[in-house]
Amino acid sequence: MIIIDSPKAMRDWSLQQRAKGNSVGCVPTMGALHDGHLSLVKASVESCDATILTLFVNPAQFAPHEDFDQYPRTFESDCAKCQAAGVDVIYAPKASSMYPEHYATYVEVERLQEGLCGITRPHFFRGVATVVTKLFNATLPDKAFFGLKDGQQFTVIKRMARDLDMGIEVVGLPTVREADGLAMSSRNQYLSVEERTRALCISKALFAAEAAMAQGETNAKTILHAVKTTLAKDVDEIDYVSLVDGNEMTPVTTINGPVMLAVAAQLGNTRLIDNIRFEPNIPASVKPAREGSLSC
Ligand code: AMP
Repeated sequence: MIIIDSPKAMRDWSLQQRAKGNSVGCVPTMGALHDGHLSLVKASVESCDATILTLFVNPAQFAPHEDFDQYPRTFESDCAKCQAAGVDVIYAPKASSMYPEHYATYVEVERLQEGLCGITRPHFFRGVATVVTKLFNATLPDKAFFGLKDGQQFTVIKRMARDLDMGIEVVGLPTVREADGLAMSSRNQYLSVEERTRALCISKALFAAEAAMAQGETNAKTILHAVKTTLAKDVDEIDYVSLVDGNEMTPVTTINGPVMLAVAAQLGNTRLIDNIRFEPNIPASVKPAREGSLSC
């Protein structure tokens, strides 16, 4: 495994791989790697000849009051985990090469970036879409692997890759959870023991809603009310609980196609997000034709 920090050296390496006929997989991360990240690496190693993990804490997706400085940075242990998992290259560019003086170019994915996390973090998806574009331009992957844990982010990136003719297959993989259900996240390390216990209500509320949907509940109001009631007992603040169309990220009132039920909530100083995706069993004959289905 090698570590590359310049976009030019990264592109040269990928061009060599492609010249040899090797397929390239890319796993973008901000480091502080856990088993969720490693599930993406595993999928890349299994389906591509070469795997690049990008490691960059992207200043453009943090607002000034957010946790950029505090974000966990564990480079040595991340390298060891990547080596063990079969990563070929860690691409860890410096902020100064990603955003040189007079940097002026940003990517926006209209509509999809506006709801859910986009409401309280209006800067966020512009920062994500921009950095992912730059990481793709340096790593030149055939496939890129993202977690459905960040469900809106996955949808934004997938649409961006399609709309901009990037020629990259964007693959979404299931959320990896702790044994008790809490979605793995680098930010879980911020939680106190007491907050960690209370945080469990998020996955519990989502799983209960998923069970209700599987039993035929289609009314969004009923589902949202139940999730909010469960969360209200344990979280300090609910940012949002939303039931949205799985492709367009727009609120739905009745479930009649693929949906995402998403939560963002605050525990102490830590903001956690989680979601589940659900698709009702609708006979093909009455199903509306949909563009851009999930590849997961
Ligand atoms: P991050 O380092 O938090 O920016 O995440 C990098 C990638 O890992 C993103 O595609 C995330 O969606 C994915 N990821 C984070 N947590 C999980 C998880 N618990 N399960 C699966 N993928 C995850």
